[in-house]
Parts: sequence; C-alpha cells; structure tokens
Amino acid sequence: MNTEEILRLKVRLLTEGASISDSEFQGRKGGAGPVGGRYFLLPNGRPVGIPIRSGEMAEKFKSAQLEPTEDPMIWLYDRSIELELVPKPSFYDLKTDDGIPYNKIALLHGRETLATTLYQNCRYWLTGQQCKFCTIPHSYQSKDALLEKTPEQFVEVLQAALNEGVVKDILMTTGTPDADDVGIERILSVVRAIREISDIPVGVQFEPPIDAEKIHEVYKVGVNAVGIHIESIDPDIRAKYCPGKTEYGSYELYMKSWKLALDLFGKGNVSTFILYGLGEDLSLTLSKLNEIASTGVLPVITPIRPAPNSQLGNFIPSYLKKPKLYFEFVKDVGRILFREKINPKETTAGCHRCGGCTPIQEAYDFAQSVL
Ligand code: SF4
Repeated sequence: MNTEEILRLKVRLLTEGASISDSEFQGRKGGAGPVGGRYFLLPNGRPVGIPIRSGEMAEKFKSAQLEPTEDPMIWLYDRSIELELVPKPSFYDLKTDDGIPYNKIALLHGRETLATTLYQNCRYWLTGQQCKFCTIPHSYQSKDALLEKTPEQFVEVLQAALNEGVVKDILMTTGTPDADDVGIERILSVVRAIREISDIPVGVQFEPPIDAEKIHEVYKVGVNAVGIHIESIDPDIRAKYCPGKTEYGSYELYMKSWKLALDLFGKGNVSTFILYGLGEDLSLTLSKLNEIASTGVLPVITPIRPAPNSQLGNFIPSYLKKPKLYFEFVKDVGRILFREKINPKETTAGCHRCGGCTPIQEAYDFAQSVL
C-alpha cells in the first residue's frame, strides 16, 4: 500500500469504525482513549484503535465488517485487508497485594505506550459543564478503573510492564480536579516515583495552569513532553461542546502555556488535541492549525468518536456527511506538519506516540512522499 492508501485506510477505520459480532468481541465501555475499541496494526505496522460498532450504529457509520481468520491474531477488514491484533500483555493478569487488577491502574495503548488516567473524574462534571464527548467518570463508576491512582500503584504496574518488555513510553492524563493546580501536583508525585526506577520517556496532559510556574515544575521533575489540549480551535464549536473548559481557558491562555512549555520541552514535545467532525469551520481550523504548528506545537487532530454513554451518544459527525472534504483536511494537516518539520514519531512522548486514535503520522508520511 502506498502512503495515501494507508492514510485512507486509517481515516476510514477511525471514522467509520468496524462491525464485529458481539459474540466475537467485547470492547471497552468508557474512559480516555479507544472507547469501545481494540488495537490492531495497520499494514504499515502502526496501531489503530478501531471503534467497534454493531446494529443501527454500524449502519449509520457504514462500518465495514471485521472478521476473524484461522489465525486468531489476524482479522480481515472489508473482506480484503489483513489487520493484526495487538496481543494482550501478560501484566493485565496480575494484581496488587490488596487485590486490584493491574489493568484497572494502567493500560497498554497501541503496542508500547503505558497509559493511565490519574484522576478519573473532572470538575466540569460536578457542575454539568463537562465536555459533551467526555466519559471520564464512567470507567470508575462501572468499576473498570480506580478513581485515583497512587504513585506506588502506578510504579508497580510500570515495573511489571518493563519486566515484560512491552512498554517504551508513558502517557499520563487526568481529569481536572477542583483545585488551582489543575491536577499537576498529582502528576508530579507519580513522575517522581517513576524517576526512582526508570528514565523511560514520560508524556503528561493537563489544562493550562493559571500559575505558569507549575509548567516549570513539570519540566524539573523529569517529564519529557506535555499535552495541553484545546479540543477545538473553532471558538463557536469549542464553546458549544466544551462549555466548562472554554469558560476556564481562553485561546490566549493556551497559546501562552504552549509557548512557555515549548521553551522547556522543545518543538514537537508540546502537543494539543484538536477534534474534528463536530461541524467546525474547516478553513478557520486550518488557518489556526497553521498558526499553532508554526510555533512548534504539534496539533494532534483526531476524529470525534461519539461514545454511547456520553452526551454525544447519537451524534452524527460531520466527517460522515463529507468524507472527501475531511480527507483533504487530514492531508492538509500532514502538509502543515511536514512543512513545519514536526514529525510525530520523532517526538519523545505523548498520545501520538501510540497514535492509535489519530492519523497524523500517516498524514505526515503522505505529505513527505508527495512534497
Ligand atoms: S476537561 Fe472535558 S474531556 Fe477532559 S476530563 Fe474534563 S470534562 Fe472530560
């Protein structure tokens, strides 16, 4: 497959998803990352977290079939493309001394990123101003994850994953607690514990703190990359879908925090999630993407994946109505990244190192092959 075909395949899988019979597959129910999906490897060897859909949802999203083959690790997508299942790591079968399964503390995202949500709730849920696509408290309410993870718990799981040889970088995110530090103190305590046993690359995510000194503390403790996620750069869409976050943090606050973080972590090691498919103005989004990327920030574009237990459970993303237009949008983002010399795989850590939910690496590779 050439780079354009790989990009098209990844975009299809991320947006349309795939349909698998319930008896064959049980996806996750909620949380950050691949909600309702599982990781497979594309023919280029890179991960993709495929939304698994069935029934009416599969029809709405035009999800093609994903079927098992004689080899349990190989599945056939749309009757023609072989995808390899990422194996379940053995550390998922372990438990802490007090009986907590390791996979309630951290999960392997893609092939080699150990990911955890340190605080599985958020201040915006307490006021009804949560982001409309968010499912963060559901994972602990359904007992799939703990509400809070301690440094000791995370390091115990990390050690097991290191012993198994399945982890090359760490990603830590957090819902925002109702505190001025926006959850950074909890992040610092876990990173200090990690640094006692390993120099593995660590990426962390948080909302922009009002006290900029907090970003210095994140750097000094040994973090390698940060994600400060604006979610949408179309102001109307951002206000509509992320009411609490928008009220708290202006675009200017984000830009100030990104620039400060860039001085510390360097180009490409500061990223921001930008969801697409919410009906955003694409030309405005591209022009702001240009502005952001020209500072050295990596924009991680990701198609909105309406989770059944979020406020967007029945939402039909705009990319479904205009797939060609959105495919051109993704290609344009690849061209921007290539022009700005921000190659996602050359960054140290962050969501995009797994890359299962975003087509930016494939878009960059496409741009590199045609420019
Ligand atoms: S900021 Fe929004 S997406 Fe993030 S945890 Fe809070 S409500 Fe969820």
